[in-house]
Amino acid sequence: MSKYERPFDKLRANGIKDMKQIGITTTVPIEVLIAAGYKPVDLNNVFISDPDPERLVNIAERDGFPINCCTWIKGIYGVAMERGIDTVLCVTTGDCSNTIMLMEVFKLKGLNVIPFAYPNLPDTSDMQRTVESLAKTLNTTVQAAEKARKKLEPARSLAAELDRLTWRDGVISGWENHYWLVSSSDFLGDYKEYERQLSEVLHEAQGRKSYPDDMLRLAYIGVPPVFAKDLYHFVESQGARIVFNETQRQFAMTEEGNSLAKQYSAYTYPYSIFDRLNDIIPQLSLRRVDGVIHYVQAFCHRGIGDIIFRQRIDLPILTLEGNNDYLLTQHLQTRVEAFIDMIKRRSSSRGDRHLRFSRVVASKVKQSRP
Ligand code: SF4
Repeated sequence: MSKYERPFDKLRANGIKDMKQIGITTTVPIEVLIAAGYKPVDLNNVFISDPDPERLVNIAERDGFPINCCTWIKGIYGVAMERGIDTVLCVTTGDCSNTIMLMEVFKLKGLNVIPFAYPNLPDTSDMQRTVESLAKTLNTTVQAAEKARKKLEPARSLAAELDRLTWRDGVISGWENHYWLVSSSDFLGDYKEYERQLSEVLHEAQGRKSYPDDMLRLAYIGVPPVFAKDLYHFVESQGARIVFNETQRQFAMTEEGNSLAKQYSAYTYPYSIFDRLNDIIPQLSLRRVDGVIHYVQAFCHRGIGDIIFRQRIDLPILTLEGNNDYLLTQHLQTRVEAFIDMIKRRSSSRGDRHLRFSRVVASKVKQSRP
């Protein structure tokens, strides 16, 4: 099996019936799903790993989804239809307002939909009630879900190690970091397989030569890109590398919480941009980042957050918008190239640059709440 093939696909290709599959529209407390006997399948990951994602978007457009609707929404609809997923957990608060209408269309098509709402604020008591309610809906218990949390701990620790090997040791590429962290939303549909494959990658990485220490270091913030495969490789071809993938790292929940309520309250993606900044800004300093790529998806409300990031992050920022091109267009390549060139020219020496930024960060962390 190739390093980047999802075992989910292999099982289907072999005609093996999986356990009860449940589609998810973004990261959710999968420990509860696993405790209830489901195999979670992140429809986004299946969509973007498909060799022909356009085909899946076409399924949605043929069924009436508008051209100016986000490609991710159309893609996950296409996956659910094509693969005959019959149950989908749809996140209605804390992700995407489009999911509410997507859920209605799923109902129309006869799918069993389970709405899930993150609390309005990252409060541990509210999260505890949310987890309890989800467990009740799926006929399981929080105690069983906590046991599932323990089972997932080794996979989350491996993801944390991968992340350290990216920014600290420089032996994991930005693309590998993206792939393994983003895949943790459903652990490839099989957390044991995820552990096995990732252990192999980490073992092999120990023998690699590190990236040069003076290579430009970039951060990636925003929702995962539709052109990930191309973006990370192109950035490296220009003499820079991505050492921080904000949302993907959040999906992996690499920092231990001793309960599901704590773990999912520390997860910043469903909440205010200011909560996200309290995670992002210290990481930019720790990882000695020189510049930030903010990805926005066409027709996505989250793009408006660019205004806030530009005010609160004191580093050069390149905002890249993607729609339904799964490779970087010539225009986007030129913008990335010019951005990297500009940072290289502005930087007199790495030491000076990072020292200066560390001082700025210390004051910005304090200011990041409105
Ligand atoms: S990119 Fe934006 S619009 Fe698209 S699914 Fe994600 S949150 Fe929704």
